[in-house]
Amino acid sequence: MLASLVSLSDRELVDSLDRVAERDRATNAEIIAHLVLIEDRRIHLDWGYPSLFVYCTERLRFSEDCAYKRIQTARAAARSPEILEYLEGGELTLSTIKLLAPHVDKPEGPELVEIARGMSKREVERLVAARFPEASRPRGPSLRVRAIDGENFKLEMTVDGDFLALLERAVDLDRHRNPEGDRVRILREGLELQVAAAEKRKFKATDKPRPPKPGETRSVPAEVRRRVHLRDEGRCIFIGKDGRRCDATSFIEHDHVKTRAQGGKHTVENGRELCSRHNGRSAELALGKERIERAKVREARRRDAQAALRTSGFSAVEARDATAHAESRLPENAPLEELLRQALARLGSRIDTGKGRPARAVYPTEPPPGSGGCSEPGHFWVGRALPASSLNP
Ligand SMILES: [Zn+2]
Repeated sequence: MLASLVSLSDRELVDSLDRVAERDRATNAEIIAHLVLIEDRRIHLDWGYPSLFVYCTERLRFSEDCAYKRIQTARAAARSPEILEYLEGGELTLSTIKLLAPHVDKPEGPELVEIARGMSKREVERLVAARFPEASRPRGPSLRVRAIDGENFKLEMTVDGDFLALLERAVDLDRHRNPEGDRVRILREGLELQVAAAEKRKFKATDKPRPPKPGETRSVPAEVRRRVHLRDEGRCIFIGKDGRRCDATSFIEHDHVKTRAQGGKHTVENGRELCSRHNGRSAELALGKERIERAKVREARRRDAQAALRTSGFSAVEARDATAHAESRLPENAPLEELLRQALARLGSRIDTGKGRPARAVYPTEPPPGSGGCSEPGHFWVGRALPASSLNP
């Protein structure tokens, strides 16, 4: 390539580079426009990549820094398409867009983008800091890893006083085993404990497996979960359209090959481990985007109802059962208020256990006189201190 340029005069070289740089800006904008659509259609997931970042670094061979900036730019461009035009014209760069990206959705976003046209990175930094001083402050604790040689790494952490106090306390408590107070050893052992606990919680890891209970249960039996984890090794097994296996190891979830909604069972054969992105994408493909969206709305409503019941003094189990009962009796799109009304009616009918636990009462409109409760018209009042006898005069 160099050989073809050697014969050019200085003027020709300058003109040629101008044209190449212009082409480069156009190509860059074109790449980002592609990324906007790839992400919107989740194509990177369908091709077996756990994230757009991995797609960019592995398939497109962008450097990590370049992938990060282009993805930030694509996300900003999805919300403010004029950014692509300014990028192509050289009025904004990947670096200035990166600074603007967190703010394009804000009311002052469009104005900010207009002002930033033609500015250098430093100038945009100052512009953003002046408009959003809060967002520009350095964040709290952070961590940096640098490779020293093939086997050793230097870890740099910014921590707060509480973290340091916790570390010193751990050193003190462990002095008899660790007289030198080796802090790396303490941190490593702490992490090992943390990983063991998380594996137990997530994958039901155990030294003493128990056979699963016969019959179908609501949640995945621990033994099924554990055996699927041993088989899939905590890696996403999703295979993309041209055969790439995702292999992600974070955000791993248990998934049903044939979904529960389609009659799939809790068996090892019907189980698999997927990263949360591919789990979500598989559900979308199996059940349709709309159905997944509806399920998300239902889930949010369920959480809100349970939280309201918990705040009112009901236990987690009571809140969960009453909400499930109410859901089974109401249409899918019933409002939260209706769901709560049904759940409370259910809980209200179970008042007075007479077994030493305080009775809980539910009043559809007003608390009984003298009960000390408060309510607004049309709202519920829930209390737990009243004797059950006062409810059935
Ligand atoms: Zn995956």
